[in-house]
Formats: sequence, structure tokens, C-alpha cells
Amino acid sequence: MAVGQRATVTLGLLYLLCVSTAWGLYLWPELSGVSGGASGWASGDWGDAGDAVALARQRHAALVRHAAALPKLLDFVALDAADLIAKLESLPQDRASEAGRAATRVFLAHALTDAGLEAELQAFSATGDRPGGVNVVAERPGTVPGAGVVLLGAHYDAVPGSPGADDNGTGIVAALGLARHFATIPTARALRVVFFDQEEQGLAGSFAYTQSLERKSGLRAVIILEMLGASCRTVGCQRYPRDLPIRPATPFGDYLAVLGNAEFPELLTAALRIRGPLSVFGLLVPNAGRDLPDTRRSDHAPFWSAGIPAVLLTDTGDFRNRRYHSEADTIETIAKDFFLEASRVAGALVADALSKSN
Ligand SMILES: [Zn+2]
Repeated sequence: MAVGQRATVTLGLLYLLCVSTAWGLYLWPELSGVSGGASGWASGDWGDAGDAVALARQRHAALVRHAAALPKLLDFVALDAADLIAKLESLPQDRASEAGRAATRVFLAHALTDAGLEAELQAFSATGDRPGGVNVVAERPGTVPGAGVVLLGAHYDAVPGSPGADDNGTGIVAALGLARHFATIPTARALRVVFFDQEEQGLAGSFAYTQSLERKSGLRAVIILEMLGASCRTVGCQRYPRDLPIRPATPFGDYLAVLGNAEFPELLTAALRIRGPLSVFGLLVPNAGRDLPDTRRSDHAPFWSAGIPAVLLTDTGDFRNRRYHSEADTIETIAKDFFLEASRVAGALVADALSKSN
């Protein structure tokens, strides 16, 4: 996850996530049952708090009406927990230097080959403040011509001095596990797995990707995995702004957050309908997040700007994980059960998107 631009804006994302949590638990307890569940806040407009609450109630009621549970997609997603952890342990620790990122690309290419896919390296040039780099891409075709492509993405770079186990080792490893899972399963849409470079440097890899008409054509859904390994269950561990109008019922940070662009609610709606052990909280963001730059801190943002349906799946990054961008972001600190369940939710969402042929 890239650094926030302003501290005051940094609070913005958490504010909204927090509100969504509060509303989910407070207004619609039936959606967040004992064994977890899903809830969400959908708003196409950020007016004052009263309007937002009313709108969210309306939207959420509509969501509940249509929330016939998705097929048991979670049961369908088979991920090898031991393999995920082993991959996390064997990822190059330096993914910041040129040499470290090159070594990571070799690691990714081998893992993709092992999964039955062929890796392509797509170099991009520096533009403006953004450095150049190399994205790693692999694709498995769909069975229905014209059904389009589902892009599953995660950035593979890290900041200097941090092993980046959560940021973004977890996203990389989950994407690799899902690439392997879906490599041999025929679906209507094609699956394209993209490991973006230089996310920590102005989202350079995903920005470059969206500058190519050819590469973004046919994209029906973009699912970005960014930090899936932090969960906390001590009071106050999930940070909140002081002026939050509604406090969540939970003082913990043990849910998966999903952010989607408001013009395309389908992806987020699907995420909220996945029932499993992990609570999922969603937020629809209008205007490509331009009013709240903190919602644009990962590789989904350039796709939002390009008007492409995209969601970010995250543990909320530094709002929860105090080891963010430090030497303490190590594998020992990863909440492994949370990570596995978050990866399965991602897989269910990918499965749902891949199954569509429109
Ligand atoms: Zn980061």
C-alpha cells in the first residue's frame, strides 16, 4: 500500500470503513451473524452524515433484498494453507532494490510456470514522477469468446528496509495460490494475473498498465489484493478518527475491507454476499475516490480513473498494521488464519466474476 499524501486525508478512509462497520453491525445485525458474515455500506454520494446514513440505509436495504446467498463459492476455492505460508517464507526479502525486484520476478515466473501458466514480462517507462519498471503478467483464456477478462492483481515491490510480509507478500502469495487454483478450471471469462511493479512509487506499474488501450480492453472486473495478513483483537487496535459519528460495535480489526468504485456495484455486492468465517465490510466510493485520496492508495486506483470495475481487498493497511513499511513487517506477525480466509474470499470473488459471460 502506498503512503498517504496527507494525514488529515488518511483519516478519511478509516472514517468510512468504520462507519460501514458500525452500520453493518448496528443496523443490520442479521448480516453479521455469530460465525461472521457480510455487511456493507453503499453510497453514491457523500453528503453530510445524516444524508449519508439515510442513503446507506436505502442502499443497504436493497442489497439485503437481493442477497440470496451466492452459491457456496467458498467451498469451491481450494487453497493449500501450507503452500501459501511456504511461499510467503520463500519470497525474496528485498523487493525494493533493482536486484531484489529482478529476483522477485524470477520467483514469480517460476511460481506461475509451476502453476501451469506462462509469465510475460511487460516493461514500462518512467513518466513524470513515476519510475519505470516491469509488470509480470500471466493469462489463462476463457471458454466464451467475447466474455472478457478478470484481472487479479497484486503489487510485488516493497519499500526499502521492509521485508513486506503483509505489504504485499500476502497479496502476492494469495494471487499465486489462486492462479494455481484457477489454471485448470474452465470458466467463461479469461483470468489474467498481474503482479504490478513500483506500486510504492506512485502506483507506477498499474498506472502504466492502464495507459495501454490494448491491455485494458476487455477488462470486466479488476480485483486487487493489498495486505491481507493483519488482524487484531485488542481494544483500539483498529484506529478511528475522533469525530466519527457512529462507533462500530466491535473494537477490533478482524474484518476484510473491500472498496469498489460506485459506478460498478456488482463486484462489491458479490463480495458482500460471500458467507464465510470472515466478516466482510464494503464501501462504494464515488468519483473514483478523488474526493478522498486515501481510498486511492493501491493499484485499483488507476483502474477507477479509467472507468473500469475494480475492487480493493485489504486488511486496511496502516490503519490496522502498525508494522507497515518497517523492518517489523515480518512473516511471524502474519495472522495466518485471517490470511487464509481473506485469500478464500478473494478466490470466491474471482470465481463469481469468471463465471459470467456477459
Ligand atoms: Zn506499502
